[in-house]
Amino acid sequence: MIDRAGPNLTGKPLRLVFTDLDGTILDSESYSWEEAAQALDLCRQQRVPVILASSKTRAEMEIIRARMSLADPFIVENGGGIFLPGISGGRPLPEAEPDGSLWKVVLGRPYSHLVHALKEIGEELGYTLAGFSDLDINQIVSLTGLDKGMAQLAAKREFDEPFVVYSPENPDIRALQNAAKKRGLTVTRGGRFFHLHGANDKGRAMAQIVALYRQMHHKVISMALGDSPNDFPMLECADVPVLVGSEHDFPGLSSRIPGIVFTNRPGPGGWNKAVLNFLESRSEKE
Ligand SMILES: [Mg+2]
Repeated sequence: MIDRAGPNLTGKPLRLVFTDLDGTILDSESYSWEEAAQALDLCRQQRVPVILASSKTRAEMEIIRARMSLADPFIVENGGGIFLPGISGGRPLPEAEPDGSLWKVVLGRPYSHLVHALKEIGEELGYTLAGFSDLDINQIVSLTGLDKGMAQLAAKREFDEPFVVYSPENPDIRALQNAAKKRGLTVTRGGRFFHLHGANDKGRAMAQIVALYRQMHHKVISMALGDSPNDFPMLECADVPVLVGSEHDFPGLSSRIPGIVFTNRPGPGGWNKAVLNFLESRSEKE
C-alpha cells in the first residue's frame, strides 16, 4: 500500500527498501527468506515499504509478495513493468493503467518481439540459445529448481526473455550485447540466466517509484540490495547501495557505485543484517 504522509509526521524521512529476490532476499538454492524474516518483520512494523524488484514475472511475484505479507509496489521482469496499488483508490502515476486489483506501468517491450529477436540473434552469432519460450515446463523446472507450479508462473512472461547458451561453452557476452543493441534491445546477466529485454532496467523502474514517494514525503532515503549485474542500475540509483555477498567478483564496482556496501554473508542472512543497520541508522538527510 502507498501511504501519504500524515499531518503529524515530524519530518522524519521515509525509508524505502528496494530488493532483488533470487540470491538476495531469497536463498539462491532453497528460495527461502527465513534468515531475512527479522528485518522484514521490522520493515512491516515500521511501515517501511519493501519494493521487490526481480526478473520474475508478475504471476510469480504476486505469490511471493503475498507470502511475505507485503502490499507495496513491485518491479517485474527486470524493470519491464511496475505494479502499484492505487493511491486513495486512484491512479498512482499518470501513465498507469488499471490491471486487475493493481495499476500497471509498462516500461518494456512486448514479449513476442523479444522471442523473435532472440531467434535472430542466435542465427546471427551461430550460437545455440534457448529462451523460456523454447523450453517446456520440465526443462524450466530442472534449470531453475522451482517446483512445477512456480515454473508455470515463471513462464508467463510479458517483458523479458531469460535464456541459456548451450553452445559455445564460453559465449562472447559483448557479441550478444551488440547483437541485442542493434535491435534496440539489451542483454543482461542474472544469477542463472541471460536476459533479453528492452531499454528498461531495474534502476529506471526504481527511479519512478522513488519519484512517486517523493511527491508525498519531503524526505525519502532509499536502499537497494542486489547480487548480480542486472541489479547494478538499481544500486546506482540508491542512497544506500548494497551488494549482498556474491560468489562473483565484480572488478570496478566500488568506483562505479561509490559508497557501495558489501555484506559478508550471502543471500537472506546478508540482507537481514544490512536492512537492520539501515533501519537503525540515522542519515545525513535527517
Ligand atoms: Mg539475484
